[in-house]
Amino acid sequence: MIPAGEALPWDLLVDDMPGDPYGIPDPIGTDKKVLTTSPFFSDYGHIPIGEFFYHIDLVGTGYAKKKCGTALPDKAGVCSNKPGTHKPVLIPNHCNRRICPVCWTHWAEQAGKRGADILNGYLTAKYGPEQKALPGMDRDLMLPRHFSFHPPRRIINILIDEVKKEIAKPSDFQRVFLRKLRDMARNIIESAGGQGGLMVIHEIRLCDDQADLQGDLRLSTNRYRQVLDRRDWRDHVKYYPHIHVLIFGAIENAREFEDRTGWTYRNHRVVHEPEKAIHYLLSHASAATRINAITPFGCCSQRSLAKVKEYRYREYIRCDECIDEGVDPDNAIRVVGTLDPHSLVYENSNDPLARLSGGLGKLIRWSIDDITPRHFARVHRVGVYEIVRPGHRVRREKDPTYLGEDWWTKYLREGVIPGSWFDPGGAGGGPHEPDN
Ligand SMILES: [Zn+2]
Ligand SMILES: [Zn+2]
Repeated sequence: MIPAGEALPWDLLVDDMPGDPYGIPDPIGTDKKVLTTSPFFSDYGHIPIGEFFYHIDLVGTGYAKKKCGTALPDKAGVCSNKPGTHKPVLIPNHCNRRICPVCWTHWAEQAGKRGADILNGYLTAKYGPEQKALPGMDRDLMLPRHFSFHPPRRIINILIDEVKKEIAKPSDFQRVFLRKLRDMARNIIESAGGQGGLMVIHEIRLCDDQADLQGDLRLSTNRYRQVLDRRDWRDHVKYYPHIHVLIFGAIENAREFEDRTGWTYRNHRVVHEPEKAIHYLLSHASAATRINAITPFGCCSQRSLAKVKEYRYREYIRCDECIDEGVDPDNAIRVVGTLDPHSLVYENSNDPLARLSGGLGKLIRWSIDDITPRHFARVHRVGVYEIVRPGHRVRREKDPTYLGEDWWTKYLREGVIPGSWFDPGGAGGGPHEPDN
């Protein structure tokens, strides 16, 4: 273990802020604050919590149901020209439980989309839909940054003792602990000057520091899932509660912050791909009942940022094989069909282990029972947000507005529907280094 106070190698590795990572004035925040990467990040190792450890639930560590990961045979997107030979698109069956080892990733993708919509909605509400940095301002400095905040071990121990006194049974431990930690973290982080953003609590990190580092660096869920997909995952993780945020605004200098609060932080990177970052953070997040895995706070909380409207667009999914054969795209739109459930054969049909890590694999054989005239579509959703100002009433539209392809494109172009601040090809986005 590296003693507290010494810079860990990944503090140097992950910093992708432009220029000198220390002492860059942040034009969004107040003048006295600077961006720094905390050199003080401390790993105090595993905190033993006894029997409570066996009542901790994390994303994807529960049991799957029988139908999880199979296909919904009555809602496939089949080719309207050659349904028997052109491969259908299947919709996987999801139980929508985040503790499901098969379905968590679908849940995390949806949560990532909703989270990215909030971050994008805040940027648009604050700076307008043009997605342009103010003159002389680096666009990256307007985007949220990924920080992790680490309470001192002393604080964790105090919280644990408090929770022990309050709960009636061990299975209550995680929920009560997370509520307390979340409230405390929100106060501490807001006191450090952060304007707000999204918060995800992690209670564990991998025992293998190298694997932990690699996962964080690449936003790769594999390192964690290799461990969490095992039944004995608890033997390979440390109980080490900490808080990740995708946060707007300037954060207090790391040294002053630590002197004042005892907490430390790590500045990971500018967030260019929020969906990917959220999906990664959720891949090993806490999953206690009745506790949301993502908490919007500060300027992104529901009290400060109101979603006033939602635009939706049904994108028709076309058959690639038809298009490869030269069919006009307008005549290559898939339709909803029913497959014979007993006819489906996949690559991993007979390999439950491969199914757990890689899904069912490619569809090899199928037969079709029924074809409807309904187009097969994927729904896109974009929210319009408004910053809530005291004394101003916010009008929220209850129902989403569905648009056809032409209006969707026109509205996006005109900025009626907010484009993505995170899209490097977007209106104001210049080239930037990809997160990797
Ligand atoms: Zn499931
Ligand atoms: Zn086709």
